[in-house]
Amino acid sequence: MDRPLQVLISESDLQRRIAELATEIDRDYQDKTPLLCIGVLKGSVFFMVDLLKRVKVPVVIDFLQTSSYRSGTTPGEVRIRKDVDVAIRGRHVLIIEDIVDTGHTLSTVLGLFRFRGAASVKLCALLDKHEAREVPVSVDYSGFPIDNVFVVGYGLDLDERYRELPYIGVYDGDPSED
Ligand code: 5GP
Repeated sequence: MDRPLQVLISESDLQRRIAELATEIDRDYQDKTPLLCIGVLKGSVFFMVDLLKRVKVPVVIDFLQTSSYRSGTTPGEVRIRKDVDVAIRGRHVLIIEDIVDTGHTLSTVLGLFRFRGAASVKLCALLDKHEAREVPVSVDYSGFPIDNVFVVGYGLDLDERYRELPYIGVYDGDPSED
């Protein structure tokens, strides 16, 4: 039996906010299409699908995978485990991420796409744990600011579990002891 989780953001609140983010993206990218949307695997998948079903501007999608959370590497060292398949130069890129925590992952990813010559690179993150930031990252489209707690659900996992929950829950326990 799974540990009970405290609901932090309900399914209806998630969907309402995602609809607002889609409207902002449509407004900003009307003349910058197709918009290249790059999801950071695996956590962003549920968010990306719901967001892009609502976005009306034409998009192209691809995915990137970075080293996982608490992987045993030095904090701040981010590895690209799966790279995108598409060319970046001259494209308008929107990185779609589940959560920005210390900022190391997104700082690396944003830098990589700028280095590759994107016409523009912006970040859309569902959750922003701003208190945990160690390196500055500006979130252009931010779903919800949250406290420095460990959350699961709606794509976010604890050792690959809980991703399928339709809401964001706070994991009530020590994630390292699950
Ligand atoms: P950062 O590099 O900003 O510290 O971490 C980003 C990644 O850490 C996220 O993409 C996510 O995989 C993971 N992460 C950070 N905070 C949480 C959390 O509260 N819950 C879960 N499940 N993953 C998190």
